[in-house]
Parts: sequence; structure tokens; C-alpha cells
Amino acid sequence: MEVPLKNSLVYKGVVLVAVIVPFLATIYAIYTLWNKAIHLTDLILLISLYTCITFGVTVGFHRMLTHRSFRPHPVVKTILLIFGSMSLEGAALDWAATHVKHHAQADHEGDPHSPVEGFFHSHLGWLFKDRMADPNIYCRNLVNDPIVSFISRTFLLWVVLSLVIPFAIGGWSGLLWAGLVRIFLVHHVTWSVNSICHTFGKREFETSDKSRNEWVVGMLAFGEGWHNNHHAFPRSAFHGLHWWQIDFSGYLIRLLERVGLVTDVYRIPAEMLANRYKNSKPVLHTTSISSKKAIVTE
Ligand SMILES: [Zn+2]
Ligand SMILES: [Zn+2]
Repeated sequence: MEVPLKNSLVYKGVVLVAVIVPFLATIYAIYTLWNKAIHLTDLILLISLYTCITFGVTVGFHRMLTHRSFRPHPVVKTILLIFGSMSLEGAALDWAATHVKHHAQADHEGDPHSPVEGFFHSHLGWLFKDRMADPNIYCRNLVNDPIVSFISRTFLLWVVLSLVIPFAIGGWSGLLWAGLVRIFLVHHVTWSVNSICHTFGKREFETSDKSRNEWVVGMLAFGEGWHNNHHAFPRSAFHGLHWWQIDFSGYLIRLLERVGLVTDVYRIPAEMLANRYKNSKPVLHTTSISSKKAIVTE
């Protein structure tokens, strides 16, 4: 009885309806939820602000301000610092001082956010323990910089602006997605560099800390996840050292250099890189030294 039924057109029609209708209904549900919960404007705003503000942190606060990986045009410097401030990760001077201290004491006593004190501590717990470093001790040279000190003093203004802009364009849902959700995403991606990239991933170089290269954070944090490379060569403007180590921040710096908006971009001398590879065991890659030279000397 079953076989003829299963082969019948009616049966096939029922199965088709049972499979297709819920599928289409699901798409419709997502579509209606989409239009209620998030609009295309919100998504575009979210992606745009996430991109600009993450670059403000990675290229501005980190590679430019803290590590002096390149010399920026004053306008570029101002814009990057404003975007960095919009991340709500502290004023530029405090951010730089804390990060200098992190490199100086990485995973040893005095590191503001090492997973040695626990993974949660390194991710966000440290923020509740008054671990921000004093700029007058850790980055005195920046305290007297007029642009840096102005943007730092007006930190809250930029944070408010980063909420007013999405509200003005997208209303309450714009504020929700491109303001609050965006802050949440930028925060956790940045903090993941401190927690995940000192706990999980591969070590390409031997360093005195626990830094690691973790590709997911590498992508989300625009190249900052190649954190073992960064601890091995802190001044390098490029954290991705192979073509497959995606480093959006490095690409932006290269683009700004091409159009003349940044100069003196620091590249790791090929010999220094080769020596570092020779002295690092175990070597967790197969790329030859000569191809590495080609990458860093271009
Ligand atoms: Zn680190
Ligand atoms: Zn750094």
C-alpha cells in the first residue's frame, strides 16, 4: 500500500509543500522581522561606523599613536584620533599609556590585562580594577602633543557625537544598532586581542610573553589578531607578515602612504625578520625566508 502512495503525485506534492512552504514562511518571517527590528539604513550605518571606529583604534590609537609606526598628516592624525575616541575605550592618552605598559610588562607582573590573572580579567575584568596607566609615566612625549591632548580632553564629546550621528540618520533603531550594538561589537573585538590573542592560536615567534596569532580576531579586528607577530615586532606598521594573514589596517596604512597622507612607514628590515625566524623554535609555518623578504621589502 505504501509504495504506490509514495510514488503517487499527490504524495510528492504533499512532501514538496511540507518542505517548501515552511522554508518560504521562514524567509518571510525573517523579512518581516528584518523590517521591524533592523532596517537597511541601520545595517549600513552599523558597518560604516564599525569600520571607521575600528580603524580609529587599530591604525590611530594603536599603530600610529602608541607604536609610532608611521608619520601622519595632521588632518589624518586628527580624524583617526576622533574615530578612536568614538570607540568608548578611554581617551587617547589613557589608551596609549595602558598599551605601552602592556608591552613593557606583557604577561608579567604589572601587565594591566594579562590572562595570567584569568581569562575574564584579561577580557574586561581589568577595566573594573583601575588598571589604566598614567600617561605622565608611560607616554610623556604624547602629553605635550597639542592634537593628542586636545582630542583626549574632549573625549566625551566624540563619544556623544558617535551616538548623535546614527540617531540623526536612523532614529532610535539607528541609535540602537549603529550606536549601542556597534559599541558592544567594537569593545569585544578589541578586548579579544587582549584575552584570546594571549591564550589561543599559534606562536610564530618566540617572545617573552604569551601572545598568539589568531585568525578570527585577525579578521574582525582588522589585522590586530596577528598579535604574536605584533609582540615580536611592535613598531611594524604591518601585523600580517604573509599574504594570507589578512591585515586591513596594514592595507589602509599602505593606501594612505601611496596617496602621500602618511610617511616614514616602519617596515621590519628583512635581515631582522630572517634572524628572528632562525632563533624562533618551533617554526609553525612553511613559507621560505626569501618569500618573506619579498613581503616585507616591497
Ligand atoms: Zn598583547
Ligand atoms: Zn601594541
